Amino acid sequence: MIITSAKSFEVILALLKNEDNMFVIGCNVCAAKLRTGGEPEVLEMCRKLEESGKQVVGWALPTAACSIRSFESLVDKNEKIIDACCILVMACGSGVSSVANVVGVPVYGSNDTISLGSLSGGKLISNQCVMCGDCIIGEFGGICPKAQCSKGLLNGPCGGNVDGMCEIDRLKDCAWTLIYERLKKIERLDLLYNIHTPQEHGFK
Ligand code: SF4
Ligand code: SF4
Repeated sequence: MIITSAKSFEVILALLKNEDNMFVIGCNVCAAKLRTGGEPEVLEMCRKLEESGKQVVGWALPTAACSIRSFESLVDKNEKIIDACCILVMACGSGVSSVANVVGVPVYGSNDTISLGSLSGGKLISNQCVMCGDCIIGEFGGICPKAQCSKGLLNGPCGGNVDGMCEIDRLKDCAWTLIYERLKKIERLDLLYNIHTPQEHGFK
């Protein structure tokens, strides 16, 4: 899941200051779950834009804003998009790019894209993967130190954690404490003896 947070309406309005006749596109996957681009948020955005004097020609809610087949597929959702002078996408940066690839008018994004995370066990967890392109998460019991350790350490903790919390961010669990507990639980502490070689800045 891509974690997004909604920009304030004032910021969005400033982005759109020279635009009118807009079409709003949401995303029925990540943004809908996070309430940054599902149907209620899209309808609320349309209402606020109109109250602010902007004309909204229509809206659409594709299954995933990051997977838009063609302009025609958007027309199938709502043909009013043909009249749009600009498009506001309520999704992550990938969703905005996906829409921009198939339309010929300016495209804006209403959200800030924060990280690749998850909704797991009813809890929102951010920064679960930094998309390094060389996945070794299985060697850490399913918890990625590249993403979750503040120092990206691959060969054990820095020694600075206090009561299981990270020395860099005291509000965050030390990733290596979590990794140790997980490996212990699944009886794979032997994986801690694997030595990982230095990486190009940690990521490919
Ligand atoms: S090793 Fe970590 S950052 Fe790299 S792809 Fe796997 S989960 Fe993502
Ligand atoms: S305290 Fe834990 S999570 Fe924080 S930098 Fe050190 S090893 Fe990484």
